[in-house]
Amino acid sequence: MPKILLYVCCAPDATQSAEVLRAEGYEVISFFYNPNVHPAGEYKKRSEAMLKLGKEMCMETILGEYDFKNWFASMKPRAKDIEGGEACFECFRIRLDRAAAETKKLNLPLFTSTLTISPHKDAEKINAIGAAAALKYGVNYLASNFKKKDGFKKSVELSKKYDLYRQNYCGCSWSLIERRKNP
Ligand code: SF4
Repeated sequence: MPKILLYVCCAPDATQSAEVLRAEGYEVISFFYNPNVHPAGEYKKRSEAMLKLGKEMCMETILGEYDFKNWFASMKPRAKDIEGGEACFECFRIRLDRAAAETKKLNLPLFTSTLTISPHKDAEKINAIGAAAALKYGVNYLASNFKKKDGFKKSVELSKKYDLYRQNYCGCSWSLIERRKNP
């Protein structure tokens, strides 16, 4: 069975993405790397939800480092473009670069990303960023669009089934402020 590293932005999004990959014949190794998440207490809830899902789905799960300071230093100059703008593309790039490096480190041939399950995120753009990261690290990227065929709806149902913590903002402090302004 071919192995694939699944970059995970959050446990709810990993549910259906992993199901799809398994149905396609892959052994899925999930990799949670989200230095964008603020505050640290929120990061703890999300990372613990991923560990819980890994157990529920009998899926190998790796937690990356929480290097919030480095992420913030890279992102601060772009703070004005947050929520759907260029800054988010940079945030994807940071996380998918790290996923490509992990794929290489584990000697896996291929990785993909849960990010494409979100109805608010542009799969084409994410796939282009993933492919560029793959090229940089000498691995391959599997283009996806997990939101297709009711993918997001199914992820909500599976999250309920596994009783997973589900966040109500994307992750960074700027997205948290926006959520508070528009609850
Ligand atoms: S809104 Fe989400 S994708 Fe955009 S920078 Fe913040 S955490 Fe990253």
